[in-house]
Amino acid sequence: MANKSRSPRRSSPPPPIADADGNPIHNEILLGLPPRERELLFSKLEFVRLKRHHVLHEPGDTLRSAYFPNTGLVSILTVFPDGKSVEVGLVGKEGFICLPLVVGFRTAPTRAIAQIEGSAFRVGSETLRGVLRQSPKLERRLQQFSQVRTMQATQLAACNRLHKVNGRLARWLLMSADRIGSNSMPLTQEFLAQTLGTRRSSVTVAAGTLQKAGLITYSHGEVKIINRRKLEEAACECYGIMLRQIEEWQGEVE
Ligand SMILES: [Zn+2]
Repeated sequence: MANKSRSPRRSSPPPPIADADGNPIHNEILLGLPPRERELLFSKLEFVRLKRHHVLHEPGDTLRSAYFPNTGLVSILTVFPDGKSVEVGLVGKEGFICLPLVVGFRTAPTRAIAQIEGSAFRVGSETLRGVLRQSPKLERRLQQFSQVRTMQATQLAACNRLHKVNGRLARWLLMSADRIGSNSMPLTQEFLAQTLGTRRSSVTVAAGTLQKAGLITYSHGEVKIINRRKLEEAACECYGIMLRQIEEWQGEVE
């Protein structure tokens, strides 16, 4: 324990990196920026809370703002006119929402919705455009993240078609836990069914199977991972494939 008589200045850990209003920054793209680009961008960020099921954009919307998720989890869904949807991407503090803006596009092709409540840093699309012109590192990081999302969407397209719901549910729980940095998450079966593009009854059966095998607990709308190693074994191979590809790319960044 620290000696209480010692100066707090000497015994306290360094303060977390924060925005102009003192909100701690967890987003990894923001944290990875060089000081000059941080200075330019951070003063223009607006800290926003994202309640569960808050929609950031719908397909066809004009993108007026972009988001750097800070805590929580945002799901990217393909939505059909009859209301059916399936998840094609999952973004947490490692990423960015509204990638079309990075290359000058303005319309959203998908729905982005907060699946686990949290916070984000918002920036207006015109402001982002101006910042990007002066921020080569930020532009590069967003282009790289765009490739990660493309890889993820490609893998999930195959996964949604070929893999069974048990394996997909286990894969989804692991991906979510990685992005929020926690083994427990609030979830409803209705939401999971929308995400996995399946019937609610199938999710009930799949969650029950994982629970009976001792991999998760699921009660009162909260899922807890209690045996991660076995959950990895139960997950379809897509979890490992995506993880290895991201690690390989991270090793290639100069
Ligand atoms: Zn899969």
